[in-house]
Amino acid sequence: MKFGEGRATARVATVGLTAGLLVLAGLALWSSVDARATTAHVRQVNETSERWSRVLEHITVSDNALRDLQVARTEQTVQPLANSLGSARAELEWLRTEATPSDAAVATRLLPLYDQTTDLLRKVVAGTDPLQADQAGLAHSSLRRQITAAISAKRLDNNEYLRAADERNARLRIAQIVVFVLDAALVAVFGMVLLGQRRMILRQAAKNEHEAHHDALTGLANRTLLARRMEVAVDKARKKDEPLALLIVDLDRFKEVNDSLGHHTGDLLLRQVANRLSWAVRDTDLVARLGGDEFAVLLPGVGSAENATMVAEKILQALAMPVTLEGLELEIAGSVGVALCPADSGDGHELLRHADIAMYAAKREKSGVAVYDARLHERGAAHLTAVTELRHAIDRGELFLQYQPKALANTGAVCGVEALARWQHPTRGLVRPDEFIPIAEENGLIEPLTRYVIDAALRQCRTWSDAGWEVPVSVNVGAACLHHTEFPGDVADLIKRHGLPARLLTLEITESAIISDPERAVEVLRGLTDLGVRLSIDDFGTGYSSISYLRSMRVHEMKLDRSFVTHMCTDAGDSAIVHALVALARNFGLQAVAEGVEDQDTWTALAEAGCDVVQGYFLSEPLPAEEVVSWLGDRAAAHA
Ligand code: C2E
Ligand code: CA
Ligand code: CA
Repeated sequence: MKFGEGRATARVATVGLTAGLLVLAGLALWSSVDARATTAHVRQVNETSERWSRVLEHITVSDNALRDLQVARTEQTVQPLANSLGSARAELEWLRTEATPSDAAVATRLLPLYDQTTDLLRKVVAGTDPLQADQAGLAHSSLRRQITAAISAKRLDNNEYLRAADERNARLRIAQIVVFVLDAALVAVFGMVLLGQRRMILRQAAKNEHEAHHDALTGLANRTLLARRMEVAVDKARKKDEPLALLIVDLDRFKEVNDSLGHHTGDLLLRQVANRLSWAVRDTDLVARLGGDEFAVLLPGVGSAENATMVAEKILQALAMPVTLEGLELEIAGSVGVALCPADSGDGHELLRHADIAMYAAKREKSGVAVYDARLHERGAAHLTAVTELRHAIDRGELFLQYQPKALANTGAVCGVEALARWQHPTRGLVRPDEFIPIAEENGLIEPLTRYVIDAALRQCRTWSDAGWEVPVSVNVGAACLHHTEFPGDVADLIKRHGLPARLLTLEITESAIISDPERAVEVLRGLTDLGVRLSIDDFGTGYSSISYLRSMRVHEMKLDRSFVTHMCTDAGDSAIVHALVALARNFGLQAVAEGVEDQDTWTALAEAGCDVVQGYFLSEPLPAEEVVSWLGDRAAAHA
């Protein structure tokens, strides 16, 4: 039964029950009124009969006195007759005026006869006419007969009346029983409906309670429930000295999956992750989703950091198994931060914050698992300092560029350089881009950094050009730049400022930049090609494949990732990949550039495979700007 239906049934039952009770009360009232009427009637009949009996008695007394007087007329016989004269008149008069119409009619009829009889008797008492005594005796018996008839008629009437009252009563009783049974049935139905509704309300309340404490997507506990459980567990851990741990699990590269494969697939993945986390831990542990791709696992009574780390490793293993979603096989990985109570966190809030710091450390250091300690805190702070310092470095020009030459694979002629950023840190010395580019990307600094690098590279290019060397430069472009529609305008301004032809600038973009927001990226890329700038897809083959975008984008170059190139002569798999990628580039009319070429054999193999351009330590390491011209000169001389 649905909630609404139950309510409607309850309403009908209430109305029915009320009506039934009213009918029952009405019937009770009716039967009591009827009983009163019957009693009143019976009382009246009794009174009337009583009066008639008294009339009959008076007449009998009078008649007896008359007979005595007829036997012997003495003082003793005359007196009683004289006393009885008119003795029944008052009763008859009452009957005529107060009794029911039928009795009144009889009394009215009898009164003149009685009065005549009284007259006769008066004469008998006077002793004037002895014959009159006989007449009076006759009148007496006539009166007596009629009164007796009236009394028995009365009795018959009364019997009839009582019989009818009995019948009415029986009918009323049956009606009362029927209504009572109906009411009882209604009460039963009503009770059942109420019980059902109560059950439904309880169930609904339980459902609401569950929803308030669980995540709708995965069914895991939510932040609220975690906080509540944590409070209890922390209390217990402190009192019983049983250390507990909180793990925070964050997926790596989840945003990429969500952006490239759609939110639906992202949701499916999160559900899978939720299941795997639940399987990996004990029933007494609590797995919660904190939001997005962030999960928490509460391990009450885990005992030690070693045990907690073991659980964290188990979780990472569970996540590492490939997931198949809608026919696609995905690899997922995560980073886990571990914090313990009471060892290094006093309450739930602190536990959560410390596990979070540990998780970020695990992510930064790519270590999978990190256990919180105060030094991590310092390193987290150091990370923050690094962000500030990098911002200053960009502003103050502490970044500089090195240039790595590229050459045509078949002739060896130099055809350009790739600009690579370096950071001369005032205290830490030279910082590699692998260290600071991710910081820039994560902290909104990649756009100013990219603009800075393009500016510096074009300035250098202009200097070489003025010295008689036309050297095309490639610049790496951070992913975020492709999501800003102003970017092509900025690049156009820079090219104009340095007075160079746009074709001397190649922008290297990565696949992930396109995939995380394809529509916007394609629009920005179109703006860039319209300027006459060359576009290259860097690290091709390492991201989620964007082959489908190659068709719709006007890209000029495909850069094979060095992870396939460097070992292609010793690894048949790498070799196969390189051959396939070169063929793909050719089919799309793109220039194939191989980076990471470290020896002659690889160069030769690439040339044979049809690769157009090579770059790598074998040709040259990245060079300081001021060494490039001399290097070019030496190379030209050697070539000649
Ligand atoms: P990338 O774009 O793939 O750059 C090539 C990297 O490979 C450079 O490392 C280069 O020194 C290195 N390399 C060159 N030849 C060889 C070789 O034969 N063998 C090996 N093993 N490595 C070789 P680097 O300079 O440390 O740059 C690392 C990454 O940092 C770059 O990879 C690029 O993704 C990023 N990066 C560098 N400069 C910039 C920049 O100005 N802007 C942006 N957005 N990213 C940059
Ligand atoms: Ca590059
Ligand atoms: Ca690359």
